Amino acid sequence: MANTKERICIIGGGPAGLSCAMYLEKKGYEDYVIYEKLNKVGGKCWSPKIKVKHNGVEEEKSFETGAIMGAITYHAVSEMEEFGGYYHKGPDFKPGEPNMRREFRTLDGKVDEWTNPKANFSFKKLHGLLKLKKQMKRLNKLMQTKYVGYDCYGHIGVAKGEYFGISKGVDGHCGATKENSFPNYIKGTNPNLKDLALPFSEFCKLNKVEEVQRIWIAPFTSFGYGFFDEIPTALVMKYLDVTTALEFVNLRLWTWQDGTQQIYEHVNKKLKHPALLEHEVVKVVREDGKVTVTTKDKSGKEKKEVFDKLIVTTPLDYFINYADATKEEKELFSKIIHERYCDYIATFEEGKSPNISGYMVENMVPERLGHAMVYYNRWQCLDRDCPATVYALANHTGTPDVDYDVVMKTMDEDMARVGFPIKEKLYAQEVYYCPHVSAKDYAEGWYDKLEALQGTKNTYYAGEIISFGDMEDTCAASKDIIGRFF
Ligand SMILES: Cc1cc2nc3c(=O)[nH]c(=O)nc-3n(C[C@H](O)[C@H](O)[C@H](O)COP(=O)(O)OP(=O)(O)OC[C@H]3O[C@@H](n4cnc5c(N)ncnc54)[C@H](O)[C@@H]3O)c2cc1C
Repeated sequence: MANTKERICIIGGGPAGLSCAMYLEKKGYEDYVIYEKLNKVGGKCWSPKIKVKHNGVEEEKSFETGAIMGAITYHAVSEMEEFGGYYHKGPDFKPGEPNMRREFRTLDGKVDEWTNPKANFSFKKLHGLLKLKKQMKRLNKLMQTKYVGYDCYGHIGVAKGEYFGISKGVDGHCGATKENSFPNYIKGTNPNLKDLALPFSEFCKLNKVEEVQRIWIAPFTSFGYGFFDEIPTALVMKYLDVTTALEFVNLRLWTWQDGTQQIYEHVNKKLKHPALLEHEVVKVVREDGKVTVTTKDKSGKEKKEVFDKLIVTTPLDYFINYADATKEEKELFSKIIHERYCDYIATFEEGKSPNISGYMVENMVPERLGHAMVYYNRWQCLDRDCPATVYALANHTGTPDVDYDVVMKTMDEDMARVGFPIKEKLYAQEVYYCPHVSAKDYAEGWYDKLEALQGTKNTYYAGEIISFGDMEDTCAASKDIIGRFF
């Protein structure tokens, strides 16, 4: 029986922390505090306003340094939109709205129309595209038959050949309807699901669908989620289920006019207890059935508060450094790997900015680590004078990491090479991105060990690690954790 009088501490004011608070309120909990170390909510959804010139007039437009897009499969994000009263644009892009149109570019700057059979027609190209189409169909069928149960949030039981979680309601067989777009839990046994621990490239080989990686690579590797020879398939297919992947291919995506950060600003304003900003959690002590949390504010002043329960939405591999972590927590959380994703927003030499987003597929391989993989042109209406965001990965298992400064310089060179010379960087960052575990640790049941720890020492773990590092999976993980444990 839920005790809604309990006092709850939530660490982190990103999508995970705020959605935990929203779902707690929906269950009748009122006594919670969200601690956020920065002076804003939204975490990796950060959408600064930048002054740009349009038809000779200066105006402010939102740009994205972090999350950009969603899709029809974003059920939990929809619930956040509803709660905050701030909604997406798309999937049909209207003039004046941020758009997701894109092209592919070769490294010598040419537009690569590899998806268009008529451009540079050859029978070899046509054959390749037909093969790809056939394998896409095959994968779709396999996911609905051999891998039934793959499409729920989270990873509980997968390594043992079981499934349990909130259904993503995708691929037409999980019962999502207009009235019930966020269906209930699904549960079952399917030994084939153990294959999802394999790195995605091995999984594709096993199932004779290697060509599909050509589709999946753009919204996966170039979006910073790692390379297919290292990332367990479960992470790839739970995020980019066939429906979501096809929405990406067909450009049926969502964007937010003032940026994704506004989803969370709006939710925060509607919460009974908005996040306490500039309060970094620096110490956690869990004893005698209580949780004592120490925070430090921007002046360096420390403060202690006592709670009944703790929800950690921040990186668990850092949590063990400031909490009284148990042996099990230390062992488990030190196995977490994260991607080093780097991006910058830049202006370009006059009239030389890209007027459409672009993918550089040749750079999406480990041998080209640190090179620009994608650039994002958000405002087509600004024509050739729009700042763009450029992205690269700096790490890959088995390859030496690339230093941040080298990545930045390499991205500049790449952009100049394809015809878009950078003038000035307005903002640049490297982010802790897409926490996950290796294929080996996945197969050995890492996620089931995490599930077994939920609730011990009055502590619950939420955030990106639970399911996947995107807005939808993190918010859905909050719904699951609050739904089952509170
Ligand atoms: C470049 C980029 C592109 C992306 N594109 C997309 C996209 O198109 N679509 C999509 O769905 N997702 C996208 N994402 C991913 C998405 O932004 C994340 O998955 C999501 O923000 C994760 O939410 P979270 O709350 O788990 O973590 P975070 O967003 O990282 O939030 C964690 C919060 O905790 C705070 N914090 C950390 N430590 C402490 C502490 N000790 N005390 C107090 N507070 C603390 C942090 O300041 C932060 O605000 C993108 C991310 C990036 C960086």
